[in-house]
Amino acid sequence: MVDALINLIDAILGNPVVLSILAGAAVTYVASCVVKPYKICKACNRSKESHSKLYKGAFGPCRACKGAGHHVRVGARILGRKL
Ligand SMILES: [Zn+2]
Repeated sequence: MVDALINLIDAILGNPVVLSILAGAAVTYVASCVVKPYKICKACNRSKESHSKLYKGAFGPCRACKGAGHHVRVGARILGRKL
């Protein structure tokens, strides 16, 4: 069972077509992270605000993104891009 899985992975990684597709996808992702390093904060949907459920009208900075309205993408964080 494990041998079959290793053979399958070996066959995939040994295939130049699959490798070039994977490399292309990786290059595209890295370029995308350089040009567009952020993703929308799903908690506040870029409003940067966290509204109180208990007190109507009360709100503060979004706790998920700390009031930024966005998150830094994982790839961008790995590349060392700040903000
Ligand atoms: Zn947020």
